[in-house]
Amino acid sequence: MYIDTHCHLDGEEFATDRDAVVQRAREAGCRAILLPAIDVASCRTVLDVCRQYPDYCRPMLGLHPEEVRADWHNQLRAIKELLTSSITHHPSPIAIGEVGLDYYWSREYEQEQLAAFEEQVRLSVAMRLPLMIHCRKAQNELVTILKKYADDLPGGVFHCFTGNAQEARQLLDFPRFVLGIGGVLTFKKSHLPDTLAEAVPLDRIVLETDAPYMAPVPHRGQRNEPAFISHVITRLAEAYGVSEEEVCQRTNDNVIHIFGPL
Ligand SMILES: [Zn+2]
Repeated sequence: MYIDTHCHLDGEEFATDRDAVVQRAREAGCRAILLPAIDVASCRTVLDVCRQYPDYCRPMLGLHPEEVRADWHNQLRAIKELLTSSITHHPSPIAIGEVGLDYYWSREYEQEQLAAFEEQVRLSVAMRLPLMIHCRKAQNELVTILKKYADDLPGGVFHCFTGNAQEARQLLDFPRFVLGIGGVLTFKKSHLPDTLAEAVPLDRIVLETDAPYMAPVPHRGQRNEPAFISHVITRLAEAYGVSEEEVCQRTNDNVIHIFGPL
């Protein structure tokens, strides 16, 4: 049994067959799915989908860096209201996410991204909810902000990690944080298996799909779904020289360590 810590199951890519996707996930041994939001609208759809599968899905609410615009203050105010109003209901938000910095396509809202991320880090500290972090082409800026709160951070996930050993060590310097590992691990030219074996202990990773994106080989290019994680587990077992059962057991323990009992 494994846990998918990052799946956009509320996305319209799953609108017509979400029940079947969840059924396949259960049959494949997925025991829970964590859903990240990206903006105000998706905070609502994430909560809706989690209420449809209350024994199985857990919501995370936040403003994604690629959704940060000049009006980020208003978006964040609405997200905070949703967090406050949903925190006492089941299934309640288990993390702030996904949040972070992304300068891959554009630096147009660089300052706004920095401000929105820092405010959500403060929210994580205040609410004692871990962070689900998205970071592309901005690790130094991201680490600089996190360091300001290092003593108070409740922990979290650096989702879709694809960096080198040095970058891994820099992120793992934050205690109670782990790396989210998904389909990229299975790509033919990926250096990730070597990087993990060299610099990342097995107690510092969790599994994720980032579905509908990032499908692992042999599904690369297709719509991803939680049932496909088996291919990532196989590759991880090879990289660490352990059994697939051990990969599942250890990564499940890591999820509970970060998020608490699901
Ligand atoms: Zn995502």
